[in-house]
Amino acid sequence: MTISVPNSFRLGPDERGRFGAFGGRFVAETLMPLILDLERRYEATKSDPAFQAEFKGLLKHFVGRPSPLYRAERLTQHIREKAEAAGKPGGATIYFKREELNHTGAHKINNVLGQILLARRMGKTRILAEPGAGQHGVATATACARFGLECVVFMGAVDVERQKPNVYRMNMLGATVVPVRSGAATLKDAMNEAMRDWVANVEHTFYCIGTAAGPHPYPAMVRDFQCVIGKETKAQMMEMEGRRPDSLFACIGGGSNAIGLFHPFLDDPDVEIFGVEAAGHGLDKKHAASLTGGRPGVLHGNRTYLLMDEHGQIEEGHSISAGLDYPGIGPEHAWLKDSGRVTYLAATDDEALDAFQLCARLEGIIPALEPAHALARVCDVAQERPRDHLMVLNMSGRGDKDLAQVAAHLSGRSIDGMS
Ligand SMILES: *Cc1c(COP(=O)(O)O)cnc(C)c1O
Repeated sequence: MTISVPNSFRLGPDERGRFGAFGGRFVAETLMPLILDLERRYEATKSDPAFQAEFKGLLKHFVGRPSPLYRAERLTQHIREKAEAAGKPGGATIYFKREELNHTGAHKINNVLGQILLARRMGKTRILAEPGAGQHGVATATACARFGLECVVFMGAVDVERQKPNVYRMNMLGATVVPVRSGAATLKDAMNEAMRDWVANVEHTFYCIGTAAGPHPYPAMVRDFQCVIGKETKAQMMEMEGRRPDSLFACIGGGSNAIGLFHPFLDDPDVEIFGVEAAGHGLDKKHAASLTGGRPGVLHGNRTYLLMDEHGQIEEGHSISAGLDYPGIGPEHAWLKDSGRVTYLAATDDEALDAFQLCARLEGIIPALEPAHALARVCDVAQERPRDHLMVLNMSGRGDKDLAQVAAHLSGRSIDGMS
């Protein structure tokens, strides 16, 4: 397959919602009018100065933005020592974009507030949170409480059990969590239930997606709301170092924190960009690396890379991190992979656990397991880059939610690279 390199990597999607061969709008006929209405309203709203002012005000006063760009001195030093011991001259200077300091502890709140403001303008009073990892449910329940909207979260019964602390938080914020017991009682089944509910209650209900995936216009809309991450990073690095960063790293579940950081830099050819997927137990075993280990197909209303068996059935992703085990990936990343603009790597559960501990000990920051995957690759790639190379990791969330799970995994394991 030949790929024509576009003039700009930031133009997509086209009017049909395609990013090259990916994306689009593969939805049931009953959903089509809802999706078209949403697209119309989003197009009309996004450039409205009053909407932008309201969104920016909330990001500042409710979320606590801008999040800091932080120079990780001891981690940088540690990597330089490792490089030196291996006979390499390198050891890039590492920065963290501190999304974990946002209200609710992750980047997800940026997107949720954008969608909730749009829902209010559309006159919707009831919000369906897309199920899956509980963090999006928490962010949505938070925004709904803030605006007095009804919030309903469909979750697989298995996930309700696995993510109890998040379920308590959602309940505390006034949301209704509906456990779905059909099928395998996980993400895909909950998604089907949520879609059914949306069609049945379209008059007053808004479907709030938690990542840059789904049918058009969701991938572009979620990206637009998350781009605040990359825009701030650009300005902050200019202020601190007087220039652009040399490379960017982010973990990839559905791809929203990554595209939010990457997008403002896509047309800066000197900036290297890396996405890091979850390799689980290993890419030849159970994993959640849709780009590295999957192939193109249609799921969740769009064409993208998916984890599938030989019959085209969707396989459940595995990752130690609930936020990364989505079996698909946002369509813009599928296109950025095929066009070669972004390099996609993967990190295993064990590598993420090591990076998690390293970050806690060296920087006094307990990261979520999701960005710990990206940090694992930062630790190797930084050794191969010169010392004046400026590397930015998107610290997408904090690790409080992961402590019990990490403790369970670590019983019996020691920390790699540290005594
Ligand atoms: C949900 C989540 C992710 C993965 O989602 P993306 O859409 O790929 O960003 C990553 N990090 C954290 C902390 C999360 O909560």
